[in-house]
Amino acid sequence: MKTITIAIDGFSSTGKSTLAKQLAKHLGYIYVDSGAMYRAITLFAMENGYITKEYFDVDSLNNSLEFIKLHFEFNANLGFAEMYLNDRNVEKEIRTIEVSNFVSKVAEISQVRAKLVEQQQAMGKDKGVVMDGRDIGTVVFPNAELKIFMTASSETRAQRRFDELQAKGDAVSYEAVLKNVQERDYIDTHREDSPLVKSDDAIEIDNSYLNKQEQFDAVLELVEEVMNS
Ligand code: C5P
Repeated sequence: MKTITIAIDGFSSTGKSTLAKQLAKHLGYIYVDSGAMYRAITLFAMENGYITKEYFDVDSLNNSLEFIKLHFEFNANLGFAEMYLNDRNVEKEIRTIEVSNFVSKVAEISQVRAKLVEQQQAMGKDKGVVMDGRDIGTVVFPNAELKIFMTASSETRAQRRFDELQAKGDAVSYEAVLKNVQERDYIDTHREDSPLVKSDDAIEIDNSYLNKQEQFDAVLELVEEVMNS
């Protein structure tokens, strides 16, 4: 069986990371959550006052990029790798609605994208990787053997994200989550650098009516086809 690269792209909260983690575990592959890297840079920008509701000091963020060190560390208890920003575990902080509200603006910046794409390509150089994001099949790994593009209605996605945040004790309204999901969809699909688009050779999966197991089984079949071809 071949060792392959699996690229999973799609809109916010389509369950990309759930699927990617399941696949990586099953195949013994590395899972990389590229969104966590954009979120960590956003947290850095927020903590340094470079981005607020009123303004975004892009130059200061760009000038600081060389001082931002990102790495993932596997947490055996959780079964996945957590995000570290300058050696600090930021896994929880990067998942808040505040970070979600700014991340797509930070992800529009070309210098930010260039830095992260370079790191992502290095992490996948030996294949055996499942990476999820917005530009994985189009920019990071255009030669990936399997590309999946995930969709679901914005209401379904907002409900899932709302349930997740509530379970973590985050006091946020469904309306705020829906607004965030729709705003990120808009910015992610309209930005100039690496917009979210379905690559021609990606297989689209609308999981509005699929449960996790059905989705996993469908994709695993595709994986096995590619590996055995
Ligand atoms: O995947 P997640 O929702 O955590 O990603 C957060 C944001 O990071 C996305 O809405 C998008 O703006 C940005 N992103 C990106 N390219 C990626 C992964 C994430 O632009 N490969």
